[in-house]
Amino acid sequence: MVDLAIIGGGPAGLSAAVYAKRAGLSTILFEKMFFGGQMVNSHNIENYPGYASISGIDLTAKFTEAVEDVEKRMEEIMAVDFSNKILFTARERIQARSILIATGAKPRLLGVEGEERLSGMGVSYCATCDGAFFRNRTVCVVGGGNTALDDALYLSKFAKEIYLIHRRDAFRADELTVNKVKAEPLIHLVLDTEVQRLDGKDSLENVLVRNKKTGEEHAIQADGIFIAVGNIPQTEFLNGKIDLTPEGYIKTDESLQTSMEGVFAAGDVREKELRQIVTAAGDGAVAVDSIRKYLQST
Ligand code: NAP
Repeated sequence: MVDLAIIGGGPAGLSAAVYAKRAGLSTILFEKMFFGGQMVNSHNIENYPGYASISGIDLTAKFTEAVEDVEKRMEEIMAVDFSNKILFTARERIQARSILIATGAKPRLLGVEGEERLSGMGVSYCATCDGAFFRNRTVCVVGGGNTALDDALYLSKFAKEIYLIHRRDAFRADELTVNKVKAEPLIHLVLDTEVQRLDGKDSLENVLVRNKKTGEEHAIQADGIFIAVGNIPQTEFLNGKIDLTPEGYIKTDESLQTSMEGVFAAGDVREKELRQIVTAAGDGAVAVDSIRKYLQST
C-alpha cells in the first residue's frame, strides 16, 4: 500500500513526485516509455522560468535529478480499479490510497493515405529525434501551432529547405516564433493548404497538397515530413470510469480531483486553457497539495 501512485513521468508527474517527497508521502511513479513526456521532443525551450534556453532532454534531466530517491517503475499501467484504487501492470498489482493521472497526450495523426505505411520512412512526429537524418534534404512540416513552427526552425539547421504547410493563413503559434519563422529564408510558407496524400516507394518522395481556396493540387518533392498537428490525451486506459470532455480530456475540479474521489489529474491530460511545461509542473504541485489534504481527511 502506497499513499500515492502517479501515472506518467512528464513534467506534471515529476513535479508531483517532488511535492509528494516533500510532503512525506510514500509514492510510486509509473512511466511506460521515457521520462519527460512530450517535453523531450522540444529542442529549445525558452519559456520555462529560470532558463533563457534549454533543450527538453536537459530539462528532463533536471526534473528527474530532483526525484532520484522517489520509487519509479518503467511499466505501463494497463488498467485501474478506481473504486478500490488498485493499479494493474502486466506483472503486478499495486494498492494505493490515492492516484494521480499525469499521462499527458500523444501526437495526433494527420490521417492521410501513405502516412502509416511511410511512418519511420520519411514520416516523423519528432523533429528533435529525426531532424538530423535530413541534413541537406528537403522536408515538409505540417501544422500551425508552436510545435510545427519550432520544428521548422529546428530543421532549418539541417535541411536544405523546409515547406511549412498549414491549413489556414493565420498561425496558432505565438508571435515571437511566427516572426522568427517568417525571417528564416530556408522556410517556405504553404498556407491555406492541406496535405492530401503521401507518396513514395520505400520512403517518402512526394507530398500531394491542395490549396483550399483555389482547389489547385500539386506535389512537393520531399524526403521527410514532420507532422505536428496537435495532440490527443492519453486516457484510453481509463475505460470510461472517469468523466472526460467530448475531446477526451479529464474533467477536474479546482483541487484537480476527477469525478472519482481520491483520483486526481495533472498536466496536458486534463481539461485546461494553457498546456505548457510550466503549467503542467504547476498542476503537479497543486494536485499533491490536494492529495495531502485528501489523505489527512480519510
Ligand atoms: P496546437 O497548438 O493544437 O496546434 C495544432 C496545429 O495543427 C494547429 O495549427 C491546427 O490548425 C493544425 N491541425 C490540427 N489538425 C489538423 C489536421 N487534421 N490537418 C492539418 N492541420 C491540423 O498543437 P501544438 O503545436 O502541438 O501545441 C500543443 C500545445 O503545446 C499548445 O498549447 C502549445 O502552445 C504548446 N506548445 C508550446 C510550446 C512553447 O511554448 N515553446 C512549444 C510547443 C508546444 P488550426 O490552427 O487551423 O486549428
